[in-house]
Amino acid sequence: MFAGHFGIAAAVRAKSPKVPLWALMAATQLLDIAFVPMLLTGTETIDSSGGEGYGEAVIHADYTHSVVGMLVLALIAGLAAARWWGSRGGITIGAVVASHWLLDLIVHRADMPILPGNAGDLPLLGLGLWKFPEWSAALELIIVTAGFAMYALSLRRRSARLQNKARAWTAGTVMGVLLLLSLATDYFGI
Ligand SMILES: [Zn+2]
Repeated sequence: MFAGHFGIAAAVRAKSPKVPLWALMAATQLLDIAFVPMLLTGTETIDSSGGEGYGEAVIHADYTHSVVGMLVLALIAGLAAARWWGSRGGITIGAVVASHWLLDLIVHRADMPILPGNAGDLPLLGLGLWKFPEWSAALELIIVTAGFAMYALSLRRRSARLQNKARAWTAGTVMGVLLLLSLATDYFGI
């Protein structure tokens, strides 16, 4: 769901030109960025015994992808963002961090806990769309296409005003290539 998260960043960027694209991109992936050191230290793990293909892994991200962990990360990122881009920017970034979790909730198998470290053994969350690779691939494609369309339209609006067509074309092309690459990463499980 790498690409799906970026698709959301592209869509949000179209609506909030004040918050820079890199910040939105980082915010949509923040839970997975935090997952990397946890994975390296073995605190969180990926179980790919079920297969290595698209969406086949069970992910034990018991801290970064717990409800409470997500809320804490969204809050920290939101507060930091508010210092640079005002309270609206802060709310936007916080919401974008949370959007990662919501999207993961749709696709993950039931592997996301409520409390960090799955304390209390509460029910694990995840609607498991990944069990149907075609459906999850289709959902991802829809998000990416919609995100790109919104981004491209916003560039068109802005470039008409700024009379800076070349820059808009460059930004649109870079975004298109990035989204296509991230889609390929997801589909081929690279
Ligand atoms: Zn994730």
